[in-house]
Amino acid sequence: MAIQILSPDVASQIAAGEVVERPASVVKELIENALDAGATQISIQCLSAGKKLIEVSDNGEGIVGEELPLAVHRHATSKIRSAQDLWRITTLGFRGEALASIGSIARLTITSRTRHADEGYRLMVEGGSEPQIQAIGAPLGTTVRVEDLFYNLPARRKFLKSDSTERHRIDAVVVDYALAFPQVQIQLIQEGRLSFSSSGNGDRREILASLIGVEEARQLIEVNYEETDFRISGLISPPGLTRSNRREIHLFVNWRPIQDSVLTSAVLQAYHTLLMVGRYPFVWLFIEIDPDKVDVNVHPTKAEVRFANPGHMFGSLQHVVRRTLITDSSLTPGTAISGPPIWQPPFDELQSARSGLEQVAARTSSSITQPEAELPAFDQKIPLLRWIGQVANTYIIAEGPDGLYLVDQHAAHERVLFERFLRQSQTTISSQKLLQPGLLTLSRAQADLFEEQISILNRLGFEIVPFGLNTYQVRALPTVFAGVDGALAVRATIEDFEENEEPLKRETEKRLIARICKRIAVKAGQSLSPEEQKALLRELENCQAPRTCPHGRPTMIHLSVDLLERQFGRRGAI
Ligand code: ADP
Ligand code: MG
Repeated sequence: MAIQILSPDVASQIAAGEVVERPASVVKELIENALDAGATQISIQCLSAGKKLIEVSDNGEGIVGEELPLAVHRHATSKIRSAQDLWRITTLGFRGEALASIGSIARLTITSRTRHADEGYRLMVEGGSEPQIQAIGAPLGTTVRVEDLFYNLPARRKFLKSDSTERHRIDAVVVDYALAFPQVQIQLIQEGRLSFSSSGNGDRREILASLIGVEEARQLIEVNYEETDFRISGLISPPGLTRSNRREIHLFVNWRPIQDSVLTSAVLQAYHTLLMVGRYPFVWLFIEIDPDKVDVNVHPTKAEVRFANPGHMFGSLQHVVRRTLITDSSLTPGTAISGPPIWQPPFDELQSARSGLEQVAARTSSSITQPEAELPAFDQKIPLLRWIGQVANTYIIAEGPDGLYLVDQHAAHERVLFERFLRQSQTTISSQKLLQPGLLTLSRAQADLFEEQISILNRLGFEIVPFGLNTYQVRALPTVFAGVDGALAVRATIEDFEENEEPLKRETEKRLIARICKRIAVKAGQSLSPEEQKALLRELENCQAPRTCPHGRPTMIHLSVDLLERQFGRRGAI
């Protein structure tokens, strides 16, 4: 093919693709515009996960009638004038691309009135057509209506994820800006239901409570740190409050949510040694920095920034998080908050010790996250164990015919509960009514996920019924779980489930059960009577796969007599 210049239509659709990837990108751009216009109230409405309709109304300063056609013109902006202004950016927008992009891939209607005009104006564009404009009565502020997103780009539409995933992304965008601007009242309605709202009273903890739960939000620790040319503030979780992935680490630079793997790792390093492997904190940190010390024009979506002095920012962030965690008074004495261990055995020493331990202890982390699909067919049984004692209220020490066993009481109990349930579910499932039904109140996003799981749980012997807006009543539990807190057990099935974790159907039941078992199993550090410890060992001996918990972590470490003899130099070299 000969080289040709693309038609403006095609060129603008290509450019639009960089700014508008999915409905949530439109929501993001429109909220940014409303915030830039000084709005104190923003209302967002979406239908069909934003594919049919996204409407954002604000009470900001509005657009004057004559300028309205310019607003949908590419590279037309009221926010910067010159290239130097790129280093003085105090607004969220500046590229003058969003409305033009949206207008080329959807049916766009903008209605706006400024304080100085008696009348408002309405502009319509469809798939990049010439804008039509008319005078119309309108309230102060701007309403942008985006209908049939990607109607002229069917390939893009097909590329979108499920409605529930796209809705969660929209939720996430709205929550991000609500947190960045807690003094602005923001409301999101999806499919006619109130999905999120913030009061605009400036309280971030209140917003987070609706997101992660009141009790969890109460535990968050405040961060405050100031240097000459920047400030870091926000809320972070104490070491006791964690989750299974890093998706709740949120960083903002000058009120803009950003993705930055380097700064994220600075945060994680600050938590290092305070969290168990595979657990991650909740973090919302806001960096305010002189605009000339940061380049926000790195990417069309403005989700990445470049600092003039990235090393310094990395160090400061890590330092302030670490210091906040260590000096936080709510940490109970005795919590392990010392720095990295002072003495670490040399690497090769560790290696040889490890190779001496039986394979169970050396299972790699890759097998840890998924509960096994089937019980392993080969014989993994353990011999009868004689109880000796307990260390650190966490490990049970026992002796077998072939040496010493250290048993992790939490992992072992998880295994025992899991197999008890599997055994029972092979016959008939019996459930037990709770004397006191438990109540479970969820966030909207959690309720969405939970709805999909209720029928599975009810099949497994739970009895859960809807009980008002995002609230459920837990009336009965499978008999094997008798005696545990019903609401707590069920909560485990929602926690940490995320948009992309759409587990294979076949696996779902086992995964749910594995989660519940993890939640209700005795904890590390929980003191157990000798009788309880012995009973746990007995039950573990009867398990099909006693050596690992349902998530694949070892339940025990075996130190064989042979290994002990070598370690003590009684036989051969180590
Ligand atoms: P940018 O935000 O980068 O300037 P946009 O395409 O998003 O580019 O918007 C173009 C212009 O339209 C903005 O510069 C602003 O002047 C005007 N505008 C857009 N949305 C609003 C709004 N909600 N209220 C007031 N003005 C708006
Ligand atoms: Mg904009």
